[in-house]
Amino acid sequence: MVEETERDDMTWYRCEECGLMFDDAGDAGQHEQNCDAEEPSYLQ
Ligand SMILES: [Zn+2]
Repeated sequence: MVEETERDDMTWYRCEECGLMFDDAGDAGQHEQNCDAEEPSYLQ
């Protein structure tokens, strides 16, 4: 999940898996797809 956070009059998007912050919703969503904190997909 990506969590929206307001800070310094800006909206940030935080990856709930690893805590990384992004200033762009698209970047945050893309990161979430490849987040290291998620289950590895190579087992599928
Ligand atoms: Zn992450």
